[in-house]
Amino acid sequence: MKSKILIAGALSGLMLFAMPENATGTEMPDYDKFPTYNGEDLELTVDANGTKFRLWSPEAEAARVMLYPTDRNSTATDTLAMKRSDGGAWVTNVPNRLYGKFYTFQIKYHGKWLAETPGVWAKAVGTNGERAAIIDFATTNPEGWDKDRGPALKNITDAVIYEMHHRDFSEHPSSGIVNKGKFLALTESGTHNLTGESTGIDHLKELGVTHVHILPSYDYNSVDEANLPSNQYNWGYDPFNYNAPEGSYSTNPADPATRITEMKEMIKNLHDNGIGVVMDVVYNHTAQNDDSNFSLTAPGYYYRHRPDGSYSDASGCGNETASERQQMRDFIINSVKYWAKEYHIDGFRFDLMAIHDTETMNQVAAALKEINPDIFIYGEGWTAGDSPLPVERRALKENVSKMPQIAVFSDDIRDAIKGHYSNAADRGFASGKPGNEETVKIGIVASTAHPQVDYSKGNISKFAYASSPTQIINYVSCHDDLMLTDKLRKSMPEASDSLRQRVARLAQTIVFTSQGTPFLWTGEEIFRDKKGVHNSYKSPDSINAIDWTLKHDNAAQFNYYRELIKLRKSHPAFRMTTSEQIAKHLVFDKVDAPNLISYSLKDNANGDNWKEIKLVFNGSDKPQSVKVTRGNWIVIASDGVINAEGIGFSKGGRLDVAPYSALILAREK
Ligand code: CA
Repeated sequence: MKSKILIAGALSGLMLFAMPENATGTEMPDYDKFPTYNGEDLELTVDANGTKFRLWSPEAEAARVMLYPTDRNSTATDTLAMKRSDGGAWVTNVPNRLYGKFYTFQIKYHGKWLAETPGVWAKAVGTNGERAAIIDFATTNPEGWDKDRGPALKNITDAVIYEMHHRDFSEHPSSGIVNKGKFLALTESGTHNLTGESTGIDHLKELGVTHVHILPSYDYNSVDEANLPSNQYNWGYDPFNYNAPEGSYSTNPADPATRITEMKEMIKNLHDNGIGVVMDVVYNHTAQNDDSNFSLTAPGYYYRHRPDGSYSDASGCGNETASERQQMRDFIINSVKYWAKEYHIDGFRFDLMAIHDTETMNQVAAALKEINPDIFIYGEGWTAGDSPLPVERRALKENVSKMPQIAVFSDDIRDAIKGHYSNAADRGFASGKPGNEETVKIGIVASTAHPQVDYSKGNISKFAYASSPTQIINYVSCHDDLMLTDKLRKSMPEASDSLRQRVARLAQTIVFTSQGTPFLWTGEEIFRDKKGVHNSYKSPDSINAIDWTLKHDNAAQFNYYRELIKLRKSHPAFRMTTSEQIAKHLVFDKVDAPNLISYSLKDNANGDNWKEIKLVFNGSDKPQSVKVTRGNWIVIASDGVINAEGIGFSKGGRLDVAPYSALILAREK
C-alpha cells in the first residue's frame, strides 16, 4: 500500500527531476477521440505469408521498423517505412518469415524522430529488452505443453496462496538448488538443505500450498541483464516490457527464446505437481516516463496528467497509466489474456489496482474467465497517491462490490492482527494490544455483513465492503513492509524468539481459519527474517535470500503451518462462498475480555463433516478461560500445538486458553 511510496522515495531522485520538463502547460489532446485498434495482431505477426508489423501510433507523422541481426551492439540491416492504416495503426509487411531477426520501432512526432523502442507488444526480447525478437513460439513449448493444465479450483477460497520472489526462494547456498535465482529453480525436484529437509518445489508440496504467487516476472527495468554476475536484486515493480519474461531469471538473457522456454518449464513443473501460478502484474505505472515504450509509441496517450500537463502520480513511482482510455484498457485485457493463453497462468495479482477503473477490472475478469473459469484475480484495493480518476470509478477495496469477480487484500485483518504496517513498534491483537477485537472479527467474516459485527468499531473500514468472502484475501504480512518475524522482533523487543514464534502461530491461525482466501509470504513458515529491513526492494541477497537451515532450526514452526494448511484444506467450513452462509453458520460467543475472541462454525457449515468447530484466540499474555458447550470434542489446536487430525479430547465446560495461542475444537455430533 503506502509502502509503494517508499519504493518511489528511493527512486524519486530520478523521477522528480523528470517531471518539470513534462509540465509544458499546453492543452491536453482529447485522448478519448483517438482512433483505437483492438486486434490481437498489434506490432508483430508471423504466418505463412511472411512477417507483418502493425504499430498503434495515431499521432505519429511517420513510422518505421529497424531490423537487426543481434539483440544489441549492431547496426540496422534494414529500415522499413510504415504506412498509415486504420484504427490509428501503421503497417508494413515483409514476404518472408524473419525468424532470428531483432526489430525496433521509431516514430516521427512534432517533427522529430523519437528514440527507438521495442514497442509495447514485444513478446520476445534480447538483453535488457532493448530490441524485440522474431522467434517461432512453437519451439518454446516444453514437451507435453498442449496438455498442461493448472489445478482445478472450484472457488478462490479453496486456494492457499504463497507469495514468493524467484531469488529469495533459491539463491541461498543452503537451498541445495542448482539454478539459483532462476525460473528453472522450480523445476528441480529432490533438493534439500544440509540437514536433509526438503527445499524448492518439494518444500511447497510438503507445506501444502495450492498456488505460488510470483513477484513480477515480466521484463523489468532495474537489473542489468548484461551483467548478471554482479548479482543485483530487485522486486521488479519497474515494468519495461509487459509481454515478455524477465531476462535475469533466465540462464541466457541474450537468447530471446530461453527466458520463454524456461518460464514455461517452471509453470509446467508446478502444474505437474498440482500447484498453480499467480503472476503479479503492474500495469498501473511504468519504470520510465517520456522514455517508456508507451511514450515512444503514442506520446501522452497511455498516462494520466495533471492540469499543467505533468504526469499525475497515483503510483508514487513517477506516473500512472490511464486504464479508462480504450487503447490502454484493451492493452491490459489483451496482455493478461496473452499470459493466460501462452503461459497458462492461473491467476493475476494487480499491483495498486485502484489506479485502474472498476470497468476495466470487470472486463479483465470476464475475458480471463472465458479462457479458463478457474483463473482468479485479486489486487491491492488502494493507490499510493491521489489520482485524477474519480474515487467512485477506482478499483478500490471499498468499491469491490462493483467488481463481483475480483478480490482485494484485507489490510483490516492484517494490521489488526500484527499492528500498524509502518509503525514498527505498534502491536496488534495477536501480540497483546487491546482494542483490535472488532477489526479482527471483520477479518474473520471476510468484510461481509454479519449481524454480530459492528463495523463502526473497525480500525480502517467502517462498512461491510465485500459482498462475498470470495472477494477477500487475508494476510498478516507480504513482500511490502516488515515481514512478520521482523515486525514481532521490533514490536516485542523484550520477548524471546520462541515467544514470538508462538505469536506468529496465533497470527497465522487467525488468517488461515478466517473466511476469505489465505495468503502467506515466503519463508514465514520457517520464521525467516529480512534483518529488520522494511522496504527490501533492492536489498542484497544477504537480506532477501531465505536461509533454508532455518527449516531445521524451526522445524516445529514449519510443522505447525503445514498442519494449519492441512486443516483448512480438509474442512470446507473455513471456505464458505457466500455472505449468507457466513451470517448463518458463523456465530461469535459473548466474551468480554481484551484480546479474546471466541466463535463457532456451526451446523456442518458449507457441507463440513464436522457439526461444529470452536475457535478461541487469546492474544493476551495471560491464560483466559472460556465456556464451551459440553460434548465430545476433538482438540485440534491448543497451547501452540496443532494437528489437523487432533491432539486429544475434551468434554467442554470451562476451558483455559494459554497466552498467545489458539484453541480449536471440533465435534462430529
Ligand atoms: Ca529486464
